[in-house]
Amino acid sequence: MACELVSCSNEALISGGEMNRSPNYLCLVLVLQVATASAQTLDETKQEAFRFLEEDQPRLAMIGDAIFSYSELGFQEFKGSKLLTDLLEKEGFTVERGVAGMPTAFVATYGSGHPVIGLMADIDGLPVQSQKPGVAYHDPLIEGAPGHGEGHNTNQAVVTGAALAVKQLIDRYGLEGTIKVFPGVAEELIGSRGFMAKAGLFDGLDAMLDAHLGSRFGTSYGLTNMGLVSVEFTFHGQTAHGASSPWLGRSALDAVTLMDVGWNFAREHLRPEQRSHSIVTWGGDQPNVVPDRASIWYYFREFDYERIRALHEKGRKIAEGAALMTDTTVEERVFAGTWPFNGNKVLAEILQANIERVGMPHWSEADLRLARALQKELGVDEVGLPSEVTPLRRATQRASSTDAGDVTWLVPYVRLTFPSQIPGVTFHHWSSGVSPATPLGHKGIVVGAQAFAGTILDLLLEPAHLDAVRAQFEEDTKDVTWTSLIPEGTIPPIELNADKMEKFRPLLAEFEYDLESGKTYIEQLGIAYPTVRDRP
Ligand SMILES: [Zn+2]
Repeated sequence: MACELVSCSNEALISGGEMNRSPNYLCLVLVLQVATASAQTLDETKQEAFRFLEEDQPRLAMIGDAIFSYSELGFQEFKGSKLLTDLLEKEGFTVERGVAGMPTAFVATYGSGHPVIGLMADIDGLPVQSQKPGVAYHDPLIEGAPGHGEGHNTNQAVVTGAALAVKQLIDRYGLEGTIKVFPGVAEELIGSRGFMAKAGLFDGLDAMLDAHLGSRFGTSYGLTNMGLVSVEFTFHGQTAHGASSPWLGRSALDAVTLMDVGWNFAREHLRPEQRSHSIVTWGGDQPNVVPDRASIWYYFREFDYERIRALHEKGRKIAEGAALMTDTTVEERVFAGTWPFNGNKVLAEILQANIERVGMPHWSEADLRLARALQKELGVDEVGLPSEVTPLRRATQRASSTDAGDVTWLVPYVRLTFPSQIPGVTFHHWSSGVSPATPLGHKGIVVGAQAFAGTILDLLLEPAHLDAVRAQFEEDTKDVTWTSLIPEGTIPPIELNADKMEKFRPLLAEFEYDLESGKTYIEQLGIAYPTVRDRP
């Protein structure tokens, strides 16, 4: 039975002292309940959370399926954000919307006092990744439309589930502590956490738990990936008739072309470890009008802050050179910046123990058929699905990035990989959209949420854990002072992807998940599970 009283303090309960606002008989009920809780072991309390999450599976599946069906790109996660904030608010969380200048970003808070535990997860989709869930070959819902070609739709279901399970226990046993839920808005653009960090939204947290799907169930610690600066250079010139008076024009597109050439010549003399890539975001209107404006957008990636800054500086010099050669001017706009991420070893050990306590989901024959059929389709090893959790490991720095990186230098941080994905898929590819809104994906969500709920309970109920986590964090950051790679005064580029969503929203509406249907998304779509190719 959940305790309804919030006005009766723990101290009053323990001492049996005077109640200010509640009738004494109700306090007695609470005293009995707290006595029951204290007699219960930590493991039994975790069991309660695990059972709650098993029973709550339909709601977690609903969250994942709905966000999948919305197919929202970075900064345009309006429906997903509304779904989550409405749900958390209904459950008693205090919700602050539109934080750090981003309409789809929010902070949802429950509980009081310390420790303060953050939960965070990426939420956005990707362009051109539309895919029917549960179908083991390329079959878009809408050709060319955005989709969840990585499976971020499952992530928020994990953190929301864990937050709601722990909230139940805070209520039932009057636990001291605060839960804060954050979305990873526009993670595919490395887009939001740098701005949230600058706005101080992570101040005062004792730990941050971040969830991301993968094909395994495990965690790691240490330096894990690259940081980056995402920056667009825009050149300004002069229009003219391309045939009759080109000498009157100054081409901004020429400047973009020369910058591209200049950077590619510079590559030979850069560290082989660096990664830099670009797209031309604007190149002019039509060939017979000399373009007076043209833009090129770079990601400059490296393994540490100083090297990222150095790459960015080199980019600026080459841009200035290109402007000089073409008699144009150049301005830059930083869209995002992040440090590489560093996982806290002690926090990872606590999470790992909970992962092992929860164990792998029980895969059905249908789950395994889907996995093997997709692996066959992709021409990778037909290994099916893992049956054991992955042992804890120290990470190695690899060439990818996440904007969670900044958070890891401000707060002790751990990242969970939960098993809603099929081994052998490629991220940012239709194959990663096959499993995240299926029974297979739903099972991964539940075990992920259980591992997080167990970890939060460890942190709330065993203060010594947090001391060790904090000591590890002090050690990791003793020679480091985090400074944002995003220049002061930069506004989040929340207009990105608005045009693409405007085009596809009306088409996607037809495939939107009906929250009231009582069905899963594949049931609503009438997709047999699994749907595999008919092969001889
Ligand atoms: Zn991701």
